[in-house]
Amino acid sequence: MTLRYPESKLDLPPGYRYPSSGYKGRHVLNMAKCIGDAICELACRNITGAIKMVKAEGEFPRNRRLTFPQLDYGLCVFCGFCVDACAFGALTMSSDYELSVYEKGALTYTPQMLASPPIDRGNSRFVVAKSQAYHVQA
Ligand code: SF4
Repeated sequence: MTLRYPESKLDLPPGYRYPSSGYKGRHVLNMAKCIGDAICELACRNITGAIKMVKAEGEFPRNRRLTFPQLDYGLCVFCGFCVDACAFGALTMSSDYELSVYEKGALTYTPQMLASPPIDRGNSRFVVAKSQAYHVQA
């Protein structure tokens, strides 16, 4: 089935969050839940080393050191181990998959960028009917 991308974009399932399944797209960080224990960084260290803990501004009583994950999408393989490792559900994934940029540096997402809500881009559904399958515009 050919989709007229980029005019048509598939409506994907919600993002992955442990223990339920979902699409493994751009991460979403809930800064209010993050305690800065760097477990996500540890989980990623022997995979790609895409996560680095960095300081961030703001009022976060659960995170006294104010350290949060920063993620380099030039390295990430979207395995989701960092999401599995977080006991507080601070890190989840989303269905946002359009992450291409013109400069490599723009692939580094600061904690504030990870905390921004994902963009819901889907406007087409895949329909399987009796003896045929097609896309419909949502
Ligand atoms: S999804 Fe995998 S590679 Fe990407 S940051 Fe998380 S643990 Fe690292």
